[in-house]
Amino acid sequence: MARSQAILEYMQRRDFLKKTSLLATSAYLMHLPEWNDFEPLRKGEQVLILGAGIAGLTAAYTLSKQNVSVKVLEARTRIGGRIFTYSFPQNTQLHTELGAEWVGESHNVMKGLCQELGLTLVKHQFQIDWLLGNKFYKAENPPFSKELNSKLQKFFADFLKMSEKQQRKLDQISWWRFLINNGFSEIDLACRELNDSTDFGESIRFISAFDALSEYANSSEYNEMDYKIQGGNENFVKALAQKIGNSNILTGKKVKTIRQEGKKVQVTCGDDSTYQADKVICTLPTYALSQVQFEPDLPENKKLALEQLQYARIIKMAVLFRERFWQKDNFALCTDLEGHFVFHTTQNQPSRQGILHFYTIGDKAYSLARQNKETRKKIVVQTLEPLFGNVEPLIEDIVGYYWGSDAYTQGAYALYQLGQWFGIRNVLAQPFKNIFFAGEHIADWQGFMEGAAQTGKEIAEKLLGK
Ligand SMILES: Cc1cc2nc3c(=O)[nH]c(=O)nc-3n(C[C@H](O)[C@H](O)[C@H](O)COP(=O)(O)OP(=O)(O)OC[C@H]3O[C@@H](n4cnc5c(N)ncnc54)[C@H](O)[C@@H]3O)c2cc1C
Repeated sequence: MARSQAILEYMQRRDFLKKTSLLATSAYLMHLPEWNDFEPLRKGEQVLILGAGIAGLTAAYTLSKQNVSVKVLEARTRIGGRIFTYSFPQNTQLHTELGAEWVGESHNVMKGLCQELGLTLVKHQFQIDWLLGNKFYKAENPPFSKELNSKLQKFFADFLKMSEKQQRKLDQISWWRFLINNGFSEIDLACRELNDSTDFGESIRFISAFDALSEYANSSEYNEMDYKIQGGNENFVKALAQKIGNSNILTGKKVKTIRQEGKKVQVTCGDDSTYQADKVICTLPTYALSQVQFEPDLPENKKLALEQLQYARIIKMAVLFRERFWQKDNFALCTDLEGHFVFHTTQNQPSRQGILHFYTIGDKAYSLARQNKETRKKIVVQTLEPLFGNVEPLIEDIVGYYWGSDAYTQGAYALYQLGQWFGIRNVLAQPFKNIFFAGEHIADWQGFMEGAAQTGKEIAEKLLGK
């Protein structure tokens, strides 16, 4: 999830949940009656993990550190899931991220794992300029009103004092409607729409006021757009895989059916291979999970929840330029043009060449995804022209990945819409006999690597009886 720091600071949702007593240890492990008759792993029992994204790999790593025998089944031919580091063949010294980009200052599970795995976090922060209605505003002199920040700070303070009942009410109305009801001017609303839709991946008309406030109510200077892993986020995935043992991770294994009989779980893949285990940790995103056949079948409320949760449409379009005409290493631009949110993704990577990312969401992303390279080039040129003139001759290549049609997620990350945070999240997190669920979509830090890692670690620890 992208975090924009231009207007305000984001809250650590976890801290908020703690403050409002919604979170005992971890919200996603709460309200799970199945834990009452749950038996932790016994010596010699085996665990199958479905999905080699960050949730699955973190679970496997946590278990294998305690000598539990694990196998990870991954449908794709690569591991990492929504961590997807890319280098242009024209310049393999530079890398960029077509999926997850930032590790946040408050992302303690990720920071801890990086330290444990000997990975370095490098600063990846930005100063955001604005281009609205073809008018350019420097970061120091943004287009929104001077009162905007103080208004928001008041909302946050009020929100933190609310009862759960009042907060649940805010889950029923949109963030957009909330801002209008609170007298936001057209320009302030436009800025919030751009800023927050970058974060959530769709218009703020679709996300609840609860969701926005619970995320934004505490400030931190760069709002979780703080670091990235040196050499690319894929180094995190590679390091975990090495610890787990590469031979314990099987790729090209698309899970088709999961059968539970007695105390055993049997998993069959598309290539007809079959695996048996005592417990299964399933980290599949909801679309992929809804395609799996369960015997016995999943409870009706879970099946419905799998159908109900949408994922945000995001395209990350990386543009390799022959030179870094944008000058500022921490250059970023928020615009109402097609480009939406543009930032210099190769800062701290020395080269004459450089990569700008065009991070586009919702309908804009869908539209951009359908264009050929020539049209995409025109959009890049049009977005940057008011600032830098014609940059067309400087474009070396363009590559984009549209998550809205990714075969397994059909979107970038979960998008909890009105009423859904309190409505379906717990249903999605409920274990089903000896199958336990993890992944970004049910995490406290939903939409982040942190959330995925946190759920993987916590479910593994629970199985270990911790
Ligand atoms: C465009 C974009 C930008 C993002 N930006 C950030 C950011 O800046 N910072 C941040 O922290 N996070 C960001 N995220 C979110 C982050 O990438 C995710 O939260 C996290 O990677 C999800 O991990 P996961 O393990 O839950 O799911 P996944 O990574 O999706 O892993 C699930 C795995 O299951 C596999 N699978 C699916 N179906 C099957 C099947 N039937 N059988 C076997 N395997 C299957 C998938 O191939 C996948 O590898 C971003 C994501 C996107 C897409």
